[in-house]
Amino acid sequence: MLSIWERNEFINYDHIIIGSGIVGLTTAYYLKKKYPTKSVLILEQGLLPSGASTKNAGFACMGSLTEILDDLKTSSEEEVLQLFLLRKKGLERLISILGHEKMGYKTNGSYELIFEQEKSALEKIDYCNQLLRSELKQDAFKINYDKIEEFGFKGLHSLVENTCEGELDTGLMMKHLIQLVTSMGVELKTGCQVVSLQDNTNEVEVVCQNPVLHNELIFKANKVFICTNAFAQKLLPNIDVTPGRGQVLITKPIQGLKFKGIFHFEEGFYYFREYKGCVLIGGGRNIDVQTETTTEFELNEQIQHSLIEKLQSVILPHQSFEVDLKWTGIMAFGKTKRPIISQHSSNILIGVRMGGMGVAIGSEVGYTLAEMV
Ligand SMILES: Cc1cc2nc3c(=O)[nH]c(=O)nc-3n(C[C@H](O)[C@H](O)[C@H](O)COP(=O)(O)OP(=O)(O)OC[C@H]3O[C@@H](n4cnc5c(N)ncnc54)[C@H](O)[C@@H]3O)c2cc1C
Repeated sequence: MLSIWERNEFINYDHIIIGSGIVGLTTAYYLKKKYPTKSVLILEQGLLPSGASTKNAGFACMGSLTEILDDLKTSSEEEVLQLFLLRKKGLERLISILGHEKMGYKTNGSYELIFEQEKSALEKIDYCNQLLRSELKQDAFKINYDKIEEFGFKGLHSLVENTCEGELDTGLMMKHLIQLVTSMGVELKTGCQVVSLQDNTNEVEVVCQNPVLHNELIFKANKVFICTNAFAQKLLPNIDVTPGRGQVLITKPIQGLKFKGIFHFEEGFYYFREYKGCVLIGGGRNIDVQTETTTEFELNEQIQHSLIEKLQSVILPHQSFEVDLKWTGIMAFGKTKRPIISQHSSNILIGVRMGGMGVAIGSEVGYTLAEMV
């Protein structure tokens, strides 16, 4: 039941985007740039963005040495290069939208920790540098033995420095993206879960739950963009998207912390960084994949324990620490690492399945979706 005022002013839009993560927000940004006079509404199920974009670790990364070598086991050199390029272009785009300051972008160094059993990967550094050189114009990877002691790490064979990665403040980045799109006239409605949608050729009906009035509210748009990433199967049951939960924790400030920058190990399954004098660590999904294939935001005690164990044994072996916060975020995976960017029906477009790369590639996906209109 709608009033005449609601029906006239609150229901009809040119473009509706479902999901206010990086992809939804950058799709809105590029749509508004392209069509300034067209109306854009973003519908978000959470009161805050509630997927991965406000829950990640703030890494602006393009792929570690062992991750690239692992990808080369199942993908061609060309495919690996294209994925690397997608990340590079996406990060350049994100920086061009917000600038360094508004996303807290810094280059304090990026390193992969190489353990004794992985040292054979070092023999492939020249090969990987050669592969990426056509696009990067510099060596992506360099071996570094000296910093292990300086950083205070234990049990490592070496570090591989990655010359083209940075870190960002995820909270600042998302807050400023929201401020930017709303300043451009984009409307954002939070607490608005889309339960179904129907393309009637002349318009799309987007059905949301309306808990206060215990009924459904139907928005209408000429074009709809599904940017729901890990939750995509709820609206598109046959899509090749599997959720993958990521566990994260951050310590309280650590006196005399010896390192800055971002770090990965075990093919990128674990990652940690310095943030405001604290250590943020995440990952470990590989040790309990089945439990972590979920869209539920719950802590996994086994994995959280492994994060603490990595801090004690490798990262902070000589320092005591206290945990400040633990949280989870939900990523989206599929049979391949590439995102799904496609036309679902004449007026519905999809941009989902960002894997563990959405910070890097999300804005390129948003740009591509807007260009498809
Ligand atoms: C712990 C962790 C570490 C990560 N590390 C990295 C990294 O190092 N580098 C990197 O590039 N990426 C990383 N990522 C991945 C990156 O954060 C994601 O790929 C990216 O944020 C995905 O953006 P998105 O907009 O596609 O999805 P999301 O941010 O998940 O946004 C989707 C939004 O859709 C909303 N939604 C879903 N269903 C509905 C519905 N029916 N109605 C309304 N709204 C709905 C959700 O609430 C959510 O806010 C990491 C992620 C996590 C969780």
